[in-house]
Amino acid sequence: MKADFCCSILTENIVEAGRKGFSVIPFKHEDDLYTNDLYSFLLQFRSMDFAADNKCIMAQRAIAYCPWCGTELHQLTRINEAGLEYYAKRNQKLII
Ligand SMILES: [Zn+2]
Repeated sequence: MKADFCCSILTENIVEAGRKGFSVIPFKHEDDLYTNDLYSFLLQFRSMDFAADNKCIMAQRAIAYCPWCGTELHQLTRINEAGLEYYAKRNQKLII
């Protein structure tokens, strides 16, 4: 799976989602009626790895721009749509 997005830090945060700390999780919508985009992006923080999350502290919110390089995240569908699809499916279980 090609895992290149707008910058190396965002790529790392998408690929390593579920680990302790910050992650970015693409969320695929069933349709684009409400957002004009097929994907939303969630910035998530967790205090423990997903596998060990008994008493994990978590926070999550939607973001529109890459926190590290400023790219508008809807542009990622042009940069690497197959990668978004893959990570959206793989990391769906992480969404709160
Ligand atoms: Zn970026």
